[in-house]
Amino acid sequence: MNKNTTVTTSRLGFAAGNDSAASMKSDTSVWKSPRDYLAARQPDSPVAFFCPRTLHQTAEEFLEGFPGLVTYAVKANPDPAVIANLHAAGLRAFDVASPVEIDLVRAMATTATLHYNNPVRSRAEIAYAVNAGVRSYSVDSFGEFDKLAELVPAEGTEMSVRLKLTVKGAAYDFGEKFGANAEKAVDLLKRASAAGYLTSMTFHPGTQCFDPQAWVSYMATCADVAKQAGVALHRLNVGGGFPSHRAGDAPALEPIFKAIEGGVKAHFGKNTPMLVCEPGRAMAAEAFTLVARVKGIGDNGAVYLNDGIYGGLTEFRDLDTLKRVNCLSSDGQPRFRKGTLRVVFGPTCDSLDKLPDGLNLPGDIAEGDYILFSGMGAYVHATCTRFNGYGDIRTVTVSGFAY
Ligand SMILES: *Cc1c(COP(=O)(O)O)cnc(C)c1O
Repeated sequence: MNKNTTVTTSRLGFAAGNDSAASMKSDTSVWKSPRDYLAARQPDSPVAFFCPRTLHQTAEEFLEGFPGLVTYAVKANPDPAVIANLHAAGLRAFDVASPVEIDLVRAMATTATLHYNNPVRSRAEIAYAVNAGVRSYSVDSFGEFDKLAELVPAEGTEMSVRLKLTVKGAAYDFGEKFGANAEKAVDLLKRASAAGYLTSMTFHPGTQCFDPQAWVSYMATCADVAKQAGVALHRLNVGGGFPSHRAGDAPALEPIFKAIEGGVKAHFGKNTPMLVCEPGRAMAAEAFTLVARVKGIGDNGAVYLNDGIYGGLTEFRDLDTLKRVNCLSSDGQPRFRKGTLRVVFGPTCDSLDKLPDGLNLPGDIAEGDYILFSGMGAYVHATCTRFNGYGDIRTVTVSGFAY
């Protein structure tokens, strides 16, 4: 993300991302589609096309469908234009994990509520958050509880005990790093309550999770933990983990929302806590299409792109290969010839910089062509490196993705 990125709000109430390249002054304008831009500009560096309208639609899907407070996990895509648009769409709370993220949200959405749910923080970070008015913190260890109890006034402040379970259904789960087991969670909840905090619980089922039951199992155990601790939960934060569209049909969020709504009723009965969710991936992914260019084609047919594992395509290493891929010639004509599986390399001089499963690409693909990856708004910019001088992904705002 470029720190100097500014945001301009159009008449539609959409905040456009600002092209950061000084040489392309007119690019605060909104283009009709990625194809229009590519044909007109023939960019030689990767481009992330941002469609604010799509982001608004996703935000609405969450706001209308989720039976509780919808927040956004900033780490998935900290682009100021994303924060500004989500705030404009009606999101009033954000999950932050560092002082930099606190400042970022404060700058773009002055009145927003902040939840600090990275469960390990330095004392300086905690003090910073208290000073910035953060009134909600997660906790998963006694050491962290002691730090919070010392530094964060209890009055009106929420402490959410983070639970871990071993559940299946996610691309990878976060339980190895974060979360207390049920027994420790009981103890933490008792301590938080005794210290006068608003007592809540939280969990994260793991990212790109397709199984609604993953949320329900967590909710059942949270209910159990609260009961054993003899504490009524103020809120239950069901985390992120909602899946984005990477292949086949778009995953439906509705069944997950319904399962969560049913789960809280089934397991908490009359003492129903207010629900909170904090999607990152599923909120941001669909609003961006990432475009890389074919730098060259090897004599053996391997395709060399100007973006790869160290750039915007990092997640190809950790998740299933994203299959929503289209190809345009350098003047913007769709490539149609039947696809074949190609070996695909990124631009750096590291042999690791290779998409693990290759890509199915049109038979007539040629040097200078553009490869469009749909649904690439999460964990792309945020994890992009500048290895070998690559990774300069510019953002261009479009009014739609159709071509
Ligand atoms: C990363 C994270 C999220 C968002 O996860 P997604 O899988 O992107 O939805 C939500 N909450 C916490 C505490 C996180 O660390």
